[in-house]
Amino acid sequence: MSRIMRTWLMGLAMLVLASAVQGQESGFSGLARLDTAQSTISDTRHGLEVTLTLSQGVPYRVFTLDDPARLVMDFREVDWNGAQSGALITGARALGLRLGQIRPGWSRMVVDLAGPHMLEEAGLRIDRQSGAARLQVRLGREDAEGFAASAGTPDVPGWDLPAAVSAPVAPRADDGVFRVVLDPGHGGIDPGAEVDGTQEKDLMLIFARELREVLLRTGGFDVVLTRDADEFVSLERRVALAHRAGADVFLSLHADALSGARARGASVYTLSDSASDAASAALAERHNRADILAGVDLSGKDDVVADVLMDLARMETQPRSEHLARVFLEGFRAAGLPLLSRPKRHAGFSVLKAPDIPSVLIELGFLSNPRDLKNLRDAEWRAQVAQAVSDALGLWHDADAARAGLVRQ
Ligand SMILES: [Zn+2]
Repeated sequence: MSRIMRTWLMGLAMLVLASAVQGQESGFSGLARLDTAQSTISDTRHGLEVTLTLSQGVPYRVFTLDDPARLVMDFREVDWNGAQSGALITGARALGLRLGQIRPGWSRMVVDLAGPHMLEEAGLRIDRQSGAARLQVRLGREDAEGFAASAGTPDVPGWDLPAAVSAPVAPRADDGVFRVVLDPGHGGIDPGAEVDGTQEKDLMLIFARELREVLLRTGGFDVVLTRDADEFVSLERRVALAHRAGADVFLSLHADALSGARARGASVYTLSDSASDAASAALAERHNRADILAGVDLSGKDDVVADVLMDLARMETQPRSEHLARVFLEGFRAAGLPLLSRPKRHAGFSVLKAPDIPSVLIELGFLSNPRDLKNLRDAEWRAQVAQAVSDALGLWHDADAARAGLVRQ
């Protein structure tokens, strides 16, 4: 029996359809709202207790994830009402929390746990008079073995999160279309960098849509976005979506922030086991961690055989990715766009791991740099970048086709 099934049968994860109970409409959105004043995450004698008061009952599920230990609570759907971890957490066994949307129609709260506290009980009570709902979750004493055995995303019937698409390593049919998959970084519960009211996830979605327009207007491109809304998409799923789309090229779009650094300008990253420099390593680490922070189950994802096959495919793809990165940087330079010093970099970005699709990650600039921030917020500047990206893609495509011809002869 699978670990996940066992978890389900043990009753430690649950989906409760409470929507049949008449709740009061809350606010204009009709979403349940979190009552921060009536909600706490506190330590008990051996574990923790979570009490969340919502304006109405909603379907929910609760589960734990290991490595690092996290408690995940999903709801359909909650307006978090600007809740802060400081306002909810009173004890020391919860280290922090994140709130946000995990998929359209579903909200998530992830609580980082100081240790592997076992999920013992979860229940939602609805006050008949007010319609308000109270979710109580109890975590017991630390038990590393039990926690590891019971942790995992439950596969609950009726839970309508689409299953993660598996990423087949298969040759693609050549349909003569140059298909570009644009990957706006972050989304939903994962805002990415945040500076001065601007969030990376929003800006990258705006830019991806603008770039799609430019590419479609130019002609000869087919464009697919890994997300076209403010929703969370795991890194694995982004890569899987690129496969499903039959991508010829995968572009991940970002604009991060560096604290205490004057770094400025665009840079282009390719995948590598070793990072070109400490800043690139830190950037990749931060991006790869985003999934953990959002409550993605990363256990059981190491498949040695698949890794070997992927390495073989990568040997062919890697030089094409490197070439793509160089063409982008030449194009940016020619367009007079500001570049970071040594702008061609590499690191172990999970999102670039499609073995058979040339993939690069473009950092358009730094939200932490005032001049970059001003540029990134400027539609005209973004239009310049989009044009440069479009031109570079065209150039690369021609050169890549010519190279392939040379190789075949
Ligand atoms: Zn980013």
